Amino acid sequence: MKKIGVLTSGGDSPGMNAAVRAVVRTAIYHELEVIGIRHGYAGLMQGDFLLMDRSSVADIIHRGGTILLSARSQEFRTPEGRQRAYLQMKKVGIDGLIVIGGDGSFRGAQKLVEEFEFPVIGVPGTIDNDIACTDYSIGYDTAMNTIIDAINKVRDTATSHERTFVVETMGRNAGFLTLMSGLAGGAESILIPEKPTAVEDIIAKLKHGFSRGKLHSIILVAEGIGTEFKTNRDVHESPAFSLSKRIQDETGLETRVIILGHLQRGGSPTALDRILASRLGANAVELLIQGEAGKMVGMVHDDVVAVDIEYALSQKKELNEDIYNLANILSL
Ligand code: ADP
Repeated sequence: MKKIGVLTSGGDSPGMNAAVRAVVRTAIYHELEVIGIRHGYAGLMQGDFLLMDRSSVADIIHRGGTILLSARSQEFRTPEGRQRAYLQMKKVGIDGLIVIGGDGSFRGAQKLVEEFEFPVIGVPGTIDNDIACTDYSIGYDTAMNTIIDAINKVRDTATSHERTFVVETMGRNAGFLTLMSGLAGGAESILIPEKPTAVEDIIAKLKHGFSRGKLHSIILVAEGIGTEFKTNRDVHESPAFSLSKRIQDETGLETRVIILGHLQRGGSPTALDRILASRLGANAVELLIQGEAGKMVGMVHDDVVAVDIEYALSQKKELNEDIYNLANILSL
């Protein structure tokens, strides 16, 4: 192994830059050349490459987003697209690739391994924390802190005006981000895809709160909770708006909605995300040097581990039931 490539792909997450920095500096430490690939797989197919040195990753450890830029590419989903990508790497002599991204990016990486026996190592970077075989993915801790900060601020106004707020969070089809932020932010109700909850139960909980003098509430809703709260006339509406309408109609309580949206993907990474990114990025390079291919690096019980990407993708990350129950008990 003489020359490796690194790219960031799919949804960006805070800490991707710290991972790129770790990859570049670890590779140079081991006397490898490093090529930064811009715009994810789209840039890989087009040969959008730049040679990286130690100073090209200076002053980025604290920055959100990704200096390599990210993208989504339909063409890379086709065998022809991946052939183009492979030939671009061959042309400049890249003999190993590190992909920092989420599960979609890992599916693409696995295809390169299977179709060309090309050594690729995946580094999990997503605020959703929905990738199996790692306790945490890069960006998750920062996103949780962003949500908690938002909940704190919303709570000030919710208390002053005695209002109910429905706050919608990201996480795609998984509830990890919402559940943990809800626990840490003291949300009165937490709605996640893994635990369908009837509107009646939420309303009963609100009423119970009022009966003991609690006049404000924060309900955290994961974006992926599905359509159960939608009425026929608002099929395109976000679940938070539909839920808020139902609460207002059925209780008469003043209810407001906040969609946190892409706010959750930005910001300076927390210490935990920077440490995770540094450790995983460095380990990914070491795996390539050892001749590994098709592995994902992860953190389990504070140890860096490597598992087959294929295996990680086949596993569903399970929600911790105890934590879900605890969040409910503490918010009664
Ligand atoms: P994330 O990595 O954040 O989950 P996406 O799901 O958008 O983001 O995936 C990022 C990119 O990975 C896609 O735009 C596509 O180019 C590539 N990709 C995703 N799934 C596959 C697949 N099954 N085969 C090949 N490439 C894929």
